[in-house]
Amino acid sequence: MQYDYKIPRRKSRVVSVGNVKVGGDNPISVQSMTNTKTTDYVATIKQIHRLEEVGVDMVRVSCPDQDSTAVFDKIVKEVSVPIIADIHFHYRRGIEAAEKGASCLRINPGNIGSREKVLELVKAAKDNNCSIRIGVNSGSLEENLIEKYKSPTPEAMLESANNHIKILEDADFFNFKISVKSSNVFLAAKSYQLLAESCDYPLHLGITEAGGLRAGTVLSSIGLGNLLWQGIGDTLRVSLSADPVEEVKVGFDILKSLNLRNKGVKIISCPSCARQGYDVVKVVAEVEERLSHIKTPLSVSMLGCVVNGIGEAMYTNIGLVGISDKENVIYINGNKDHRISNEKIVDHIVNLVEEQVAILENKK
Ligand code: SF4
Repeated sequence: MQYDYKIPRRKSRVVSVGNVKVGGDNPISVQSMTNTKTTDYVATIKQIHRLEEVGVDMVRVSCPDQDSTAVFDKIVKEVSVPIIADIHFHYRRGIEAAEKGASCLRINPGNIGSREKVLELVKAAKDNNCSIRIGVNSGSLEENLIEKYKSPTPEAMLESANNHIKILEDADFFNFKISVKSSNVFLAAKSYQLLAESCDYPLHLGITEAGGLRAGTVLSSIGLGNLLWQGIGDTLRVSLSADPVEEVKVGFDILKSLNLRNKGVKIISCPSCARQGYDVVKVVAEVEERLSHIKTPLSVSMLGCVVNGIGEAMYTNIGLVGISDKENVIYINGNKDHRISNEKIVDHIVNLVEEQVAILENKK
């Protein structure tokens, strides 16, 4: 038996974002956000379809003006995942988006203005079966909190979140989740910890403005990974200055690494090493790319020699072990099965994975 560990999750209540349940024991959902002009709804729909291909659970679309909310229903109609309207400042955009089919309104209450305006948004959300995300951000905390705490602190973030939780609760509205984001990983982590202890609403995790693909992935993995490991977090977005498709892939990779959501192929492979019998780096990159559409959880080990190859192959669905400069052994579900030459590795592994996926799908 391989050593296994399941992270116990914080107990949170369940809210609905369209047909996706967030919180409780539901899978931790992965979100992203389009970067096309929302008014260019054809390009926006196309981008959402690309995100759907890599398994995104819900997508946020920016609504900076009335022209954007005017096409919101066109977008919602053409995609299969719930669409969240990102409302920056004007509460009217939130009302329009809710009426045009948004499954959730992401609002930063500090930017919306008065309590009355927030209440009007809540009414629109209620009338249209739409959830809300309270999105507190260290970069836009209310002025009175900055005056009180002198700078954005975890306590200030918590107070902002609690103030807005109260507004929604007083309006008899409970279908909401909360985020307390910051680009400062320590501030974000502490704020989420305080919030997790003080309420049972589902939490949307994010390290905002995390940076480019590599640095942002590292920062997000540390920040989100640390919280997820403590059982905190019900949905997440990895914020990268990169193609949003990468945000989704990284999000799932973080969850996969923590055994929180095993979607798609998990690859175990060698680092660069002189003992490898085939070009592991090149082969793994090709296999990873060719298998990125697979959603069924499956593990593949690709090791360059017998030193660790057999040990890893014993615990993966498909194992490849280099035994010479020309030949490799394939293991299926831990059993030695057959041999394959170096030139055929990529096509062969892809075919084997697709066969195994078909078998697993048929068993369902
Ligand atoms: S399994 Fe072999 S090739 Fe891979 S890292 Fe270990 S020693 Fe190197």
